[in-house]
Amino acid sequence: MSEVLIVGSMALDSVKTPFGQADRTVGGAAVYAATATSLLAPVRLVGVVGGDFPREALDFLEGRGVDLAGVELVPDGKSFYWSGVYDYDMTDRETLDTQLNVFADFDPKLPESYRQSRYCFLANIQPQLQLSVLEQIEGPCFVMCDTMNLWIETEREALEQVLARVDLALLNDAEIRQLADTPNLAQAAGRVLDLGPKFVVIKKGEYGAALLSRDEHFGIPSYPLPDVVDPTGAGDSFAGGMIGLLALEDSCTTRDLRRAVALGTAAASASVEGFGLEGLKSLDVGELHRRCETLREMVQFEPIQLELT
Ligand code: AMP
Repeated sequence: MSEVLIVGSMALDSVKTPFGQADRTVGGAAVYAATATSLLAPVRLVGVVGGDFPREALDFLEGRGVDLAGVELVPDGKSFYWSGVYDYDMTDRETLDTQLNVFADFDPKLPESYRQSRYCFLANIQPQLQLSVLEQIEGPCFVMCDTMNLWIETEREALEQVLARVDLALLNDAEIRQLADTPNLAQAAGRVLDLGPKFVVIKKGEYGAALLSRDEHFGIPSYPLPDVVDPTGAGDSFAGGMIGLLALEDSCTTRDLRRAVALGTAAASASVEGFGLEGLKSLDVGELHRRCETLREMVQFEPIQLELT
């Protein structure tokens, strides 16, 4: 088993869906990812929070074995705040407010003890900061990165430098179309692979996810759920689950990547079952395993015999 370095936002989120809402609940890409990963492997977290960030949330992470030495606390500052509203389909969302607060000056500094992390997830932050983290780690064996439309529009050059240095890029369907400038997802994945990563994962929300490389095309549906409460953080929980399995087994072959995508899918499904971290917090290893097995059964089928004339 190896440690996982996770860098990204630690936030207070206000989320509204057609069916409910939560105000200033703990979230942030790095917190979702760390919560999912911590079920499988030790986490080293890098982020920044203000004095308003609930102590219980930090205690919870610590209780899960998450190393918080890289989390900066600014006692007289306010935490990153994000607020969004979801459409009736619970997929499309509009950002209502983003207040960077202490995150505006975020300059990830890795404690000495973090520098030799073998697995790393660079959650959605400015690509320059992702580059700075890559400069500070020594010989990682597998690095995944996420990004967002804003950086694709405004920081393409730095983002391309990040992509040239990571093993896997995680993008949702809209982001990869925008990044590769083509509506065709297979073509888009090819163009992103040309930029450097060995693997691309395309997240398609309720329709599942695809894993692509030069010689691999794997697809998986989402885990079927009777009730989706809050999709916020699904992508980060997915990433956290994925990298958690790679670190647990300390192996990242193409076969492992397929299994990691399945495990990420299972972790994401728990995340969307409650507001904020609620769903993910109630997930345990047994339930995670059960969901992986359900997904495994879902994607299996017998050979198809056709009479060829
Ligand atoms: P996801 O649903 O996977 O896109 O992740 C949602 C999480 O990302 C929320 O908890 C937000 O706090 C966080 N978030 C939203 N906007 C940003 C941003 N510009 N930079 C970093 N994190 C963000």
